[in-house]
Amino acid sequence: RQNSSLAKMLIVFTVGGGGLVACSDAKSDDGINIVNPSEVDDKNKKKRVVVLGTGWAGTSFLKNLKDPSYDVQVISPRNFFAFTPLLPSVTVGTVEARSIVEPIRNIVRKKNLNVHYWEAECYRIDAKNKKVYCQSNLAGDPNQIEEIVVDYDYLVVSVGARSNTFNIPGVAENCHFLKEIEDAQKIRRKIVDCFERASLPNLSDEERKKILHFVVVGGGPTGVEFAAELHDYVTEDLVKLYPMVKDAVKITLLEATDHILNMFDKRITAFAEEKFQRDGIDLKTGAMVVKVTDTEISTKQVKNGGEISNMPYGMIVWSTGIGTRPVIMEFMKQVGQGNRRVLATDEWLRVEGTGDIYALGDCATINQRKVMEDIWAIFQKADKDNSKTLTVKEFQETLKDICERYPQVELYLKNKQLSSLIDLLKDSKGDSSKESVEVNLEEFKAALSQVDSQMKNLPATAQVAAQQGSYLADCFNRMEYCEENPEGPLRFRGEGRHRFRPFRYKHLGQFAPLGGEQTAAQLPGDWVSIGHSTQWLWYSVYASKLVSWRTRALVISDWGRRFIFGRDSSGI
Ligand code: FAD
Repeated sequence: RQNSSLAKMLIVFTVGGGGLVACSDAKSDDGINIVNPSEVDDKNKKKRVVVLGTGWAGTSFLKNLKDPSYDVQVISPRNFFAFTPLLPSVTVGTVEARSIVEPIRNIVRKKNLNVHYWEAECYRIDAKNKKVYCQSNLAGDPNQIEEIVVDYDYLVVSVGARSNTFNIPGVAENCHFLKEIEDAQKIRRKIVDCFERASLPNLSDEERKKILHFVVVGGGPTGVEFAAELHDYVTEDLVKLYPMVKDAVKITLLEATDHILNMFDKRITAFAEEKFQRDGIDLKTGAMVVKVTDTEISTKQVKNGGEISNMPYGMIVWSTGIGTRPVIMEFMKQVGQGNRRVLATDEWLRVEGTGDIYALGDCATINQRKVMEDIWAIFQKADKDNSKTLTVKEFQETLKDICERYPQVELYLKNKQLSSLIDLLKDSKGDSSKESVEVNLEEFKAALSQVDSQMKNLPATAQVAAQQGSYLADCFNRMEYCEENPEGPLRFRGEGRHRFRPFRYKHLGQFAPLGGEQTAAQLPGDWVSIGHSTQWLWYSVYASKLVSWRTRALVISDWGRRFIFGRDSSGI
């Protein structure tokens, strides 16, 4: 990472038993001096938990961790938590950036825990030696990068994901992304710059139209919400300030599939598409971006012969999904997951191929295929006489065991192919050993493989990340108790698996703000609600979910300010 002369200039730290120590004893491969303070202080050592990342997953873990017997080290290049669902509002000044962030030191200060925070970025996880390697460049000088090596007993990886450009030429160089606070601030400045530029004298109409052509790529919830926010900003605020250019403004939303908001109920998709049409947002579906230059964006029609068209633009916001961070890709190779796209964990959020590394949030996914293989193995084990059949009683007991361990399976088994089997099992109450009905395991395996293909990965949302963080903190809170009572909860005894119940995701519904004070919501039980009243539900839910009373007060006052005075158009 640095040549040896530069290495001499680096200050090297290793973090151990509870402190940060500038070191000068041992030599690393690079010739950097490193001492490990944990060797000095091995007695009475607290278990060291290192948390990478201060996003939804990492912060939820920290907020819910209660057991003071850990020495917690938090490492993240961002010293604050950002409430991402309100990022699109920041891009147009409906909400200020500082209203949706909370310093991580504020969050951990209130806890009766031994927590240290280092503002640094992890660039390598060494699973074999239980170390993470990080760099901090707070001086802003490449010659003064501080190298930090941290030992851990348990590692919680919650570094999130990066925006995915799919390696399409020109995207990284020419598009804006909407992932971090800085991204939202840049977009806000750029929108106002476009309006100021278009208002300069001596421009042709064509040039004005180009500068005021805003292109949003990606018809998922973020792209749709940004397009709606931008439309409101332009029609409610900017047209009053820039009346001479208002006719040149155009917003285009590009989506590669046939519809926007694919993950929502069809009624929501249809409502959103009609509303955008009424609002004059140019929705182009089935249009895949193939190239972006500094002046034009090229799209290819997915159907109809793949026709290519080029559009001049003033600004592009790219919101097409997420990709894996380089540090995670390198780590995946180390733990034998080099052929996968996303870091896989088991149901207890432990990284497959490791024992003491947990991964949660957008950087990882629970390996559903493995879950299905496990289930099949359990059924095979239950078939003691190798007859490829089980009595109903055996089947019932095995299925009950599986549903307790894999709650998401229960959901699928109830609704899908196995419903008739479940009915059969329900009927066989009492002394089932006398049951003559037998379950053919081969048939069962075929049904199981259909279930397998339907078991989708959990969505990459704040909701999943936050629930995983709080689940894992709960496991850590009970870790000591479980070590003292090693038999663990009864139903897992003897399985050699884990002491805790597996992670169970509870879907609480999702929102899609559509602009004009209208929001769509899809709530549990496929309950759909669209309109102005849902917008008020959105306000109340998001106000309640904000991380602190300080941010809650700031966001609510921003909303009030916007209602009274409109959005700020200075771009700062
Ligand atoms: P993040 O929240 O991204 O946090 C990752 C953390 O890791 C950050 O602190 C980062 O600085 C740190 N980090 C990065 N690299 C390193 C490194 N090398 N070493 C150490 N630390 C590192 N979800 C919803 O449920 N509802 C919504 O309405 C919603 N709206 C969204 C709107 C926008 C604009 C965006 C971008 C996302 C939205 N999401 C929403 C998705 C949600 O934000 C993510 O799913 C969630 O942030 C994932 O949490 P995480 O902790 O895995 O990652």
